[in-house]
Amino acid sequence: MILSTTAPSARRETQAFIDQPHQLLIDGQWIPAASGKTFDVFNPADGSKLASVAEGEKADVDKAVAAARRAFDSGPWPAMTPSQRGKLIWKLADLMDRHIEEFAEIESLDNGKPKAVAAAADVPLAIDLFRYMAGWATKIEGTTIPISVPYLDGAEFHSYTLREPVGVVGQIIPWNFPLLMAAWKLGPALATGCTVVLKVAEETPLSALRLGHLIQEAGFPPGVVNIVTGFGETAGAALSAHPDVDKIAFTGSTEVGKLIVKGAGETNLKKVTLELGGKSPNIILPDADLPAAIAGAANAIFFNHGQCCCAGSRLFVHRSQFDQVVDGVATEAAKIKLGPGMHPDTTMGPMVSKIQQDRVCGYLDAGAHEGARAVIGGKRPESEGYFVEPTVLIDTKSSMKVIQEEIFGPVVAAVPFDDVDQLVQAANNSVYGLAAAVWTKDISAGHRLAKRIKAGTVWVNCYNVFDASLPFGGYKQSGWGREMGYEAINLYTQTKAVTLQLK
Ligand code: ADP
Repeated sequence: MILSTTAPSARRETQAFIDQPHQLLIDGQWIPAASGKTFDVFNPADGSKLASVAEGEKADVDKAVAAARRAFDSGPWPAMTPSQRGKLIWKLADLMDRHIEEFAEIESLDNGKPKAVAAAADVPLAIDLFRYMAGWATKIEGTTIPISVPYLDGAEFHSYTLREPVGVVGQIIPWNFPLLMAAWKLGPALATGCTVVLKVAEETPLSALRLGHLIQEAGFPPGVVNIVTGFGETAGAALSAHPDVDKIAFTGSTEVGKLIVKGAGETNLKKVTLELGGKSPNIILPDADLPAAIAGAANAIFFNHGQCCCAGSRLFVHRSQFDQVVDGVATEAAKIKLGPGMHPDTTMGPMVSKIQQDRVCGYLDAGAHEGARAVIGGKRPESEGYFVEPTVLIDTKSSMKVIQEEIFGPVVAAVPFDDVDQLVQAANNSVYGLAAAVWTKDISAGHRLAKRIKAGTVWVNCYNVFDASLPFGGYKQSGWGREMGYEAINLYTQTKAVTLQLK
């Protein structure tokens, strides 16, 4: 079932980067952690040590925030024109273009995902995001507003709004799309003129550190982007509770999202945007193009090993087609080749970490204990790597953990439905509301369901379609605010109303 765990090595330049000591990027300099501490990151395909990285903590976060504050308040960054900012962001995208293979290899070794997927999806999407946001730098506009002021008879005014950068932004990102999440966060912050302290996930710090070198090469002034590697409970918590941070943008678990809100509330009421968990319903209506829907359902859950906040983890199928669809998705699962991301034949790599592998297997055990049945998969294969078999569960109940909680692994629960009202009720029966999909040939039915599902994204006859221009984010406990598109620009700016009396 598992391809050999030996895989081609990375190119020489990739390996040289991985092997170097990895430090913190603060105020334009690479420096060790104040404590001198480092931590190891591992290759999830075989559990071997991959690299050693500086362990930033509160003292380092304080230094990084001070650098970001200086860069925001004075120096070349606030003096730059929008066009100059846009050009720098575009230049960064051009530099990334020259390193697609290297980024894909780093991502594959650090996160476990197939290199080909990283080269086709993660890296180009990150580059495209920067180019999209580079364009916004020159298009952030206020409005002129005719005002009446009824209590000042005869007076005349000229009122307009300015959209100004929010300030120093702390950005905390997860490990599932390390480079792409860095781009989603950095792009709008840089386009609007904010400065950043980026706290990358402790499991997968390497691609953002490589990006840090390109940020320097592109010529961003010191302190505009600071990168701190370290753990959530120390570096992440220090950043989210920091009194001189104006906004926190976080992507990760709902549990940590709540801690971040608490940290903001207990300090300076900094602005908070959150992109959190999901338990997305993927709905196949009876008239759907079944082969397309089955392939789509497999992609919805197995893409990125199910480690997607928008993974289609609850598959709703009309009872008349339930067995056929379950067989079809199980057949797709059986074709998946588990192996190291660097192996050219691998179609699914390992979970990112032993902890994540144990977490997913814990859900599989809980499902089995509560009476769910795996028609395929259901366990971890024998391996040094952190693999989990692609799994299709049936015989679930709405109260089960595997239906209610986010598993963040290659595990889909298929659930039959009889009528659309019951389906909508079941699909919306979740604390989450990140994404959903509907498969149907009836365009009106697709639109009607899109309206009734409580989620920030609804795909019809497709899944996992992302674009830098499309807002992405959650209803309910899936988050606050949106990533990408103009909505992201809005969330990195604040409105100032200016009024002049003319008469
Ligand atoms: P996961 O459990 O899947 O690793 P998390 O939500 O814990 O997801 O992690 C996402 C990001 O949040 C990581 O960068 C992690 O270091 C950070 N993080 C974890 N705990 C905290 C915390 N208490 N405060 C701030 N950031 C945190």
